[in-house]
Amino acid sequence: NVRVRFAPSPTGPLHIGGVRTALFNYLFAKKHRGTFVLRIEDTDQNRYVEGAEEYIIESLNWCGISFDEGPGKNEKFGPYKQSERKYIYKQYAERLVKDGNAYYAFDTSEELDFHRKDHEAKGKTFIYNWHNREKGRLVNSLVLSDEEVNKRISNGDDYVIRFKNPQNETLHLNDIIRGDIQIDTNILDDKVLFKSDGMPTYHLANIVDDHLMKISHVIRGEEWLPSLALHVLLYRAFGWSAPEFAHLPLILKPTGKGKLSKRDGDKLGFPVFPLAFKDHKTDEISRGYREDGYFPEAVINFLAFLGWNPGTEQEVFSLEELIEAFDLDRVHKSGARFDPEKTKWYNHHYMQKQSSRVLAEQFKKIREELKDVNDFYISMVIDLVKERASFISDFWDLSYFFFVTPTELNEKAAKKAWKEDSEAIMNELISVLNSIHDFSSENLQSEIKSWINSKEIGFGKVMLPLRLALVGDLKGPDLFQIMSMINKEESIIRIENLIN
Ligand code: GLU
Repeated sequence: NVRVRFAPSPTGPLHIGGVRTALFNYLFAKKHRGTFVLRIEDTDQNRYVEGAEEYIIESLNWCGISFDEGPGKNEKFGPYKQSERKYIYKQYAERLVKDGNAYYAFDTSEELDFHRKDHEAKGKTFIYNWHNREKGRLVNSLVLSDEEVNKRISNGDDYVIRFKNPQNETLHLNDIIRGDIQIDTNILDDKVLFKSDGMPTYHLANIVDDHLMKISHVIRGEEWLPSLALHVLLYRAFGWSAPEFAHLPLILKPTGKGKLSKRDGDKLGFPVFPLAFKDHKTDEISRGYREDGYFPEAVINFLAFLGWNPGTEQEVFSLEELIEAFDLDRVHKSGARFDPEKTKWYNHHYMQKQSSRVLAEQFKKIREELKDVNDFYISMVIDLVKERASFISDFWDLSYFFFVTPTELNEKAAKKAWKEDSEAIMNELISVLNSIHDFSSENLQSEIKSWINSKEIGFGKVMLPLRLALVGDLKGPDLFQIMSMINKEESIIRIENLIN
C-alpha cells in the first residue's frame, strides 16, 4: 500500500526543485494506485513566512498536482500541519530519553561555541556525540544526576533533547536511487530533537509523522541525504519499521556547475518559482512561471525530465502519460542540468496544442488595442502566427499589422525592399487591386501572380515593397492572407502611405 508525502516548510516561495519533488511523489503514488499526502512542516517558527503555505497549495493546484490527504482535505491522519500537532511530539522525545536513546542537554550556545573554537584551535572538529558527551565538559543528563536534571528543568532552564548516536557502528542505509550507503556512526552529531519551547525539530517531527501517517516511501531532495542516518536510527530506536527512501538528484545551474538558485534565474532571465511571490518583508517580487506566460503542462513536462527519463525518444508527456511511464528506477543520481531553452521549447509545443479561441481570449487581456476587435478575427490571426510563438506575449510582435496601421518603417528592411522602380510598380499594383472584387487570399494570389507574370517583373520587385507597405517590415505570414484579412481599403491605404 503506497503512501507518499510532500512535506514542504513554509519558509518562502516553493522553488521548482520543491515542485519537482511533489511531482515525483505524485507520479509514484498514482502509478502504484497509492495515496499522495501533503504535510506542512512549520515547526520552525522563526523561519515561517507569511503566505508561503497558501503559495504552496496554489502552486500545486496550478500544476495540476492534487493531493489526496492534506490540510483541509481528507484528514484521516490529521491534522496535516505540524504546528497543529505540537502536542504529539513531546511524548515521543521523552520515550527516547526513557529508553536511553536520547538525553537532556543544557549547554548554552556560548558554551557550545567555546567548545567548537577550542577544538578548532587544536585542529579538530567538535562533534557532540560519544567523543565528548560524557567527558564532563558538556552539561547533559548523561553526566548530571537525575536530581540535578529535574531541578534544572523545573527551574525553567533552557534545554534540548539530543539523540544519542551509537558508537563504532557502520550503518548500511538503502536508497532506491543510490543503493547501499555506508555511514560510520562516529561522524554523526547528536542532533537536537526537541527544544524547551515545546517544539520538536524537523528530524523528530518528520519521523514521528511519517510513522503515524503510515508513509511507505520517502521521496525527497538530495539535500536531505545527510539526515538519512539519523532518520534510520530514529526508526530503530522507536522500534518502528522505516519507510523506503529515495533521494532525488540536485537541479543544477544551466552551466551544469552548482545548484540552481534564484540568482541564476535573475541573471539569465528565467523564473525558478512556479508562481510569482511577493515577500512582504522586503517587498521583493520573485518571478513565476505562471506570470511569465508558461502553460502548467509545459512546466510539469520539463520538471519530469529533471532527474528522470523514460528511456525512449518521447519528450512530450501529459500528466497521465507521465504516471504511466514513471518509476523510481529510471531516476538517476547525478545532478540534473536545468536548461531554460528547453522550458521555452516545451511552452512552444503546448502553445500549438491550445485552441486559438482560448489563446485569443488571453491575448485580448494583455493588449489594449484589441479591446474592440472581434474575437473570431483575433483567433484567425492567431492561427496564422501561432506557429512562431512560444508565449502569449509573443503574439503582438508577430501580428500587430493585422490590428493597426503600421506607423514605423524598419529602415534596414526599407533599404532592401524599396528600389527606384518601386513607386511605379506599387502605383500599378493599386489599380490592379482596385479592380479585384473577390479579396480572398486564394483569389488575390492568383490575380496578382498572373499580373506579375504578364508584366514580366520579378516576383520580389512586387512582393518586397508590398510587404514593407503592409507590415512596415519584411516579416510576417503570407501576404495574400494579410491583405485578405485587413481588407481591400486598408491594403490600398497602406501602399499609398508608403508611396507618399
Ligand atoms: N520539511 C522538509 C523540507 O522542507 C521535508 C524534508 C523531507 O521530505 O523529509 O523539505
